[in-house]
Amino acid sequence: MSSKNRVRYIATAAVATAAMAMGVAGCATSAATATSTGQTGPHHASTVPMHPSVPAGSVAPSPTSPPARIPAAGTPTASAAAKGAVPAKGAIPSSFTKVSEGGPHTVNITIDDGPSPVWTPKILSVLAQNHAKATFCMIGKNAAKYPDLVKDVVKAGNRLCDHSLNHDMTMSRKSASYQSQEILEGQAFIDKAAGGTAKAQYYRAPGGAFTPTSRQIAAAHGMRPLGWDIDPKDWSRPGTESIINTVKHELSNGPIILFHDGGGIRSQTVSALQHLLPWLKQHGYGVSFPSQAG
Ligand SMILES: [Zn+2]
Repeated sequence: MSSKNRVRYIATAAVATAAMAMGVAGCATSAATATSTGQTGPHHASTVPMHPSVPAGSVAPSPTSPPARIPAAGTPTASAAAKGAVPAKGAIPSSFTKVSEGGPHTVNITIDDGPSPVWTPKILSVLAQNHAKATFCMIGKNAAKYPDLVKDVVKAGNRLCDHSLNHDMTMSRKSASYQSQEILEGQAFIDKAAGGTAKAQYYRAPGGAFTPTSRQIAAAHGMRPLGWDIDPKDWSRPGTESIINTVKHELSNGPIILFHDGGGIRSQTVSALQHLLPWLKQHGYGVSFPSQAG
């Protein structure tokens, strides 16, 4: 991932988009590989994080999401771009967001797989102590189970992201109607749990298993596809120090950092954020949200 991202930052804007797509595709492909080879572990339970341990880029990119199919920045969909269509004003692009609303030298904290009655309140507490906000990518069924937590997340000024209804990492290999159902029912559950206080503004595919179709469905329903630039693999509990060091060393990759509050014991994630948030501030980094339009 890091070599790709280094390339991304010395490349042109168009190549940069493709390189990010490759990074996400690598994660998605890894997810599919882990599942198809019968790998056991945290991939069985629906609330467990599904990001695989296989390094991104160690396998060939999935045929469902080669970089060439990713529309250039600013185009709403590949088909629309092919027809020369101009994006409607205010439309959500189906490309991955790669810009922080806060501008350069800000990071975007993203928290996946919750809400969790144990870990979400602890993460919210650390964020509040550090006057930081995050984007919570929730599993629809978890949101329906814990609607008060969804409201707490919103009340504290954080944003919501749809992480699908059931967190099926193989959804990229299933029909468009299935993908649509997973995305839109997840969105409906999250929005309902928020009780009108907020709506999901982003969509992150489980395990990064995006397809051009899923990105277009999300964008057409007001949700910007959301990848990530920095993956400390906190879901695998590599140790608090490892999580901290990965984030520090990969800050030049881009603004979006991937963490988890669901799917298992997240004490290392909480401890890492307790260290990282003050450290980021000391080093001049702000904390912001991913841009919906940029
Ligand atoms: Zn996830």
